Amino acid sequence: MTFKELGLAEPILDALEAQGYTNPTPIQEQAIPILLKGKDLLGVAQTGTGKTAAFGIPILHHLYNSKNQQAGKKKVRALIVTPTRELAIQIGDSLTNYGKYTGLRNTVIFGGVKQGKQVNALRNGVDILVATPGRLLDLMNQGIINFRDIEFAVLDEADQMLDMGFIHDIKKIIAKLPPKRQSLFFSATMPKDIVELSRKILGDFERVTIKPEQATAEKVEQGVYFVSKKNKPKLLVHLLQERSSDSVLVFSRTKHGANKIVKKLAQADIRSAAIHGNKSQTARQKALGDFKDGKLKVLVATDIAARGIDVEDLALVINFDLPNVSETYVHRIGRTGRASASGIALSFCDKEERPYLRDIEKLIKQEVPRMPEHQFIDGDDDEPETAPQPRRPRNQSQSRNRSGNQNQNRSRNSNSRGRNTNRNNSNRNRNADN
Ligand code: AMP
Repeated sequence: MTFKELGLAEPILDALEAQGYTNPTPIQEQAIPILLKGKDLLGVAQTGTGKTAAFGIPILHHLYNSKNQQAGKKKVRALIVTPTRELAIQIGDSLTNYGKYTGLRNTVIFGGVKQGKQVNALRNGVDILVATPGRLLDLMNQGIINFRDIEFAVLDEADQMLDMGFIHDIKKIIAKLPPKRQSLFFSATMPKDIVELSRKILGDFERVTIKPEQATAEKVEQGVYFVSKKNKPKLLVHLLQERSSDSVLVFSRTKHGANKIVKKLAQADIRSAAIHGNKSQTARQKALGDFKDGKLKVLVATDIAARGIDVEDLALVINFDLPNVSETYVHRIGRTGRASASGIALSFCDKEERPYLRDIEKLIKQEVPRMPEHQFIDGDDDEPETAPQPRRPRNQSQSRNRSGNQNQNRSRNSNSRGRNTNRNNSNRNRNADN
């Protein structure tokens, strides 16, 4: 199946070609025809599957085809609501890319910054609005945004929005949407409260479920180090020094922990930055921008801040802490191995985190390969509870170095990785400290 066979407008096909997309991902192949027919859609899928293009492309197609009938100032005809600033910005960027030859305009609004620029962008007229719930409701209450002309409404990452406490905002937003519209609802998981919410927005809908094994980011190699809490910073410094040319995303369970990691790395002359909810929007955007451009090699993030981070060539994810919610692990390791690329995810596990590791392994239905040795062992805290089962070392040349360098040191600590093709749809995060 090609994008051309889906019958998309020429300017969109040209933009997809410019993006280097040759074939639709499974969710795109299934969702785009449904949306082109004008039906509502319930999509059970996580970030990393190509979900943004699955909903963005048909919306651009419809708006483009009816563009000429719209005289005068542009009106908001499509609304996309998503939980975090980072995701909102990313969706806006994707729409700009996919729609760059259509003449359609989008803008992104989110909280944590002054509203002036966002209001000006809205007043200049946009076709598509991407928003986080709080700021959207705020501008709606001020009478700056109205939903009169909305033809397409998308609720993205619905389970995450509920976890973040946006349920009342979402219900208020849904209540203001015009009844005649096409609605799209995306969630990684479908617990009862999400099903109920989906009923409030969807009319006659079709469902598309992207099963874990269909996810595009499926080739993540994993490994776990048993290491004491005290020795984690040393092991991190060691691994980062071995891979100084790679882009590495380090996960911390807490905001405070993320700041501490950045300090420890600075003491070892490793430049890094933290992104989490306590950082200003400007600081977050700067850190993320530098990381995406390759100017900053190490980014330390909490789960919610990192949600949806889309960085090409992210070689390695390190779980400095194991998450206490197993689904979060699957979501974290999915930050590497995006679309068709492969990646590596290494985790640090101290004594207290062993139950978390067992839960994760139950969820992913496989053992996370044990990294057989490291030099920072100083007590039984670092010892695996059962003897490690070292795998046959992988040949260095088999192990893909995405920066193109063959780092000689790399094999010592990273040659016993296994493969995980087991993905999980669920990426809810119940950690409060983000
Ligand atoms: P998403 O799930 O929307 O966050 O997309 C995950 C990643 O896949 C992003 O980096 C997209 O640019 C990329 N992507 C989406 N659709 C395609 C496609 N058809 N071919 C190649 N890459 C894609």
